Amino acid sequence: MLENYNLACAIHRHFMATPEAPAVVCQGRSLTYSQLAERSARLAACLTHSLDWARRDGQPPRVGIFASRGVDACVALLGACWAGATYVPISLKQPEERILNLFAQCGLSALITDDQGAKLLSERVLAACPDVVIHAGQERLWPRDSVIKIIEMATLPPVTPEEPVNMAASDTAYIIFTSGTTGVPKGVMISTGSARHYVSMIAEWLELRASDRALETCELSFDFSIHNMFSTWEVGAALHILPATTVMNAVKFARNSELTIWNSVPSLAGMLRQIKALAPESLANLRVTVFGGEQLPASTVTAWQSAAPNSVIFNLYGPTEATVFCLAQTVANPLLLTPGRDVLAIGKPLPGNEARVVDESGQTIADGASGELVIAGEQLADGYLGAPELTASRFPTLDGKRWYRTGDLALRDATGSFHCLGRIDNQVKVLGYRVELEEIDAHLRIVSGADIVGSVAWPQAGGMASGIVSFVGASSIDAEQVIDALKNRLPPYMLPSRIITLEIMPLNSSGKVDRRALLKLLGTEAG
Ligand code: AMP
Repeated sequence: MLENYNLACAIHRHFMATPEAPAVVCQGRSLTYSQLAERSARLAACLTHSLDWARRDGQPPRVGIFASRGVDACVALLGACWAGATYVPISLKQPEERILNLFAQCGLSALITDDQGAKLLSERVLAACPDVVIHAGQERLWPRDSVIKIIEMATLPPVTPEEPVNMAASDTAYIIFTSGTTGVPKGVMISTGSARHYVSMIAEWLELRASDRALETCELSFDFSIHNMFSTWEVGAALHILPATTVMNAVKFARNSELTIWNSVPSLAGMLRQIKALAPESLANLRVTVFGGEQLPASTVTAWQSAAPNSVIFNLYGPTEATVFCLAQTVANPLLLTPGRDVLAIGKPLPGNEARVVDESGQTIADGASGELVIAGEQLADGYLGAPELTASRFPTLDGKRWYRTGDLALRDATGSFHCLGRIDNQVKVLGYRVELEEIDAHLRIVSGADIVGSVAWPQAGGMASGIVSFVGASSIDAEQVIDALKNRLPPYMLPSRIITLEIMPLNSSGKVDRRALLKLLGTEAG
């Protein structure tokens, strides 16, 4: 029989072997593997009966997950997987316009919500919903007057979980949307083959165990969540979800939950350090710390080593387009730092991945010289949804092999370790979120009416940005009004905190807005 690549197979496996082991815990609610399997399979049975399973472009139907991190969100996405569908997480933290855009791009066959998601289904969003909408939350929100019928999961009959529907390695497991330079988010399509490779590889590489208790800090729409959920479930361990409202108390949460595995962006650790929550030995139970998704400052590592003295620290690097992480450094003393910067090297390719530094023509360049980091291997995405040209340009064939051009400026040192030196383009990370500054500019141009605009990530401290400041080349605009109008178009982390008007916008030699000069202006102002 062909191997079943369905991501939900791990839940079924542990349901059979250790049904009473805890699988997911959040805000006082917890599900064992048996309960998680039953609920996911129940949801899957409903999808199986309600959807048209005819394949489009050879791919399974797509099911949107409109939920914030929590037990019900896990059931929702596992239900979609279990049924053999592609799941598409849709962040709740975005304005209606953007949600409608994602619906339109995906052609969803069904939508599953939790309580929070269900409450955000305005009449306009409901009108754009697919025919099948399932509420997998705890509150009884329907029947209520709405333009479409919503299925309450609580009314579905219980089932005995059978093995998840067979999925081939080439079936799309999920689509994650990231910021797009044209002003429209782009959907990264990851196959079950890539996802399954990543999950089994990383669980083995990190030596995760069934007795582990691992932290989830991410929303489903961030690729890091794939790592957190599925690496934990791969080994039959328990996932402890940090509620968004408890982030400041993450250390206390980790202690009370007796966590052994920490997973987060370094920004979270940096913030805990800033609020002086990282007392020495305060995280003594941790045995593994996974930092990833953005540069890891040396200062964060030093503070963490004293707070979590029994933990190995890993710096993991990777774009959504390479499933989750594809390079890694096991942190050791003395720290392997990137020359001239106080940040950790991103290490070497993980099993099944390859990395090179290339020049503009795709030729590999000598160790020590900087160029663009390109990635190949089993984790590469199938491309961007509905964007074959963009896919072709970002996933070129070099020497007969398919690569992904990361847009990261990098070098490889003499020991074979890679170092990230920043971006070639205008992509930034703001509080861990991936943002294309051009996407902000595209919307700013429309709402301000100005032709020349430029946004930068600011303020920056310890190599991390915590906000956006935009500049408009116009004599006068009402900044408050423009920011208000942007709120209907962009998620909160992409909104400028200030809009500064400049009579003369600095331009670089190619006639484009000079973002470095804009940053200098802000630096002078702060200094
Ligand atoms: P995302 O697709 O949201 O995971 O963002 C991917 C981008 O984040 C990469 O192309 C890098 O620019 C950055 N990034 C991810 N991990 C690291 C890391 N460990 N160190 C430095 N930059 C990172």
